[in-house]
Amino acid sequence: MPSSTPEIEDYHVAWIAALPIEFSAATAMLDEHYEHRNDDTTLYTLGRIGSHNIVVACLPAGHIGTTSAATSLVEVVHKFPALRVGLLVGIGAGVPSPEADIRLGDVVISQPTRGYGGVIHYDFGKVEPDGQHRRIGYLNGPPLVLLSALSKLRWILETGTSEIGSHLRSLQTLAAFRQTNTTPDHLFRADYKHQDGPTCENCDPIMVVTRPERDKNDPSIVLHCGLIASGNQVMRDGVTRDKLSSEFGGVFCFEMEAAGLLNILPCLVIRGISDYADSHKNKTWQPRAAGNAAAYAKELLKCVPPFSTARRPSSEGSITRNSARSMSLRMKHLDLPRVDTTPSSCFFSLAAMYD
Ligand SMILES: [Zn+2]
Repeated sequence: MPSSTPEIEDYHVAWIAALPIEFSAATAMLDEHYEHRNDDTTLYTLGRIGSHNIVVACLPAGHIGTTSAATSLVEVVHKFPALRVGLLVGIGAGVPSPEADIRLGDVVISQPTRGYGGVIHYDFGKVEPDGQHRRIGYLNGPPLVLLSALSKLRWILETGTSEIGSHLRSLQTLAAFRQTNTTPDHLFRADYKHQDGPTCENCDPIMVVTRPERDKNDPSIVLHCGLIASGNQVMRDGVTRDKLSSEFGGVFCFEMEAAGLLNILPCLVIRGISDYADSHKNKTWQPRAAGNAAAYAKELLKCVPPFSTARRPSSEGSITRNSARSMSLRMKHLDLPRVDTTPSSCFFSLAAMYD
């Protein structure tokens, strides 16, 4: 426990939420809350998880997309100049495939794969004279200190010693996370459009893709580590989802903020899957997905050594007050992280939650 309220310079980790439900999940993960004045445009709260002082920031309501995310993060980085790394934590749209058995409630974490840094800004580029869209630019990969923590997290999951169940239970004090009205986890064929209605009651069950049942007696959240596609468009079409994913060799999820952040602050992206990026999407899984992502983020943070004693990793960008103002980031040479970059999945059993 810290002896006093931290100074501005003592905050090294930013936790960014795009939606209020994600912000609620984040604040529920804090071991300790610190009082502060919040007279900025961006809503944020301060607290501690383990040895880390955390700035939890929430994007302005209704301001979604990469530009809004970038604007808010620049303000936060300007106010907290000692920030070293960021976690972008919330919901995302999953891309199930024969290679990745992604289900609603699973968690996807960005990880460098196939020459990409972990996140692809898929809709940023130019239209060539032949009408083809050509992607340009690049996004920075996650800092090595977070990738090392990710490796440790995966090891903890495999040894069954994680405290994710405890983190999830702490959410149960909030009504939004106690809801039980989630719709069935149905993945429809990519080319089958949603029929009228707020849920899939009118959709043809014969169009549901047959997938093996997960063990109902041992419910689990599966962590998938690999590529995330980020852009300014809400993905609601299964055919386009699969086409774009295949262009990059397979992405695990789509989301709408990461591409605006990664070149401002070295970040890892953690997404709970709340829909399948098709016309059947609804919001009933959002609280559970946001809660699962937050629980994984907290467990990951526990694997990150204190920044006061940690050696600054060579792949980490350096940010100054001035560079924050100008939205520019001075990056040192970007070494490829020496961690396993094979897209992979590992299981966390939820059975312990119901003891
Ligand atoms: Zn439907």
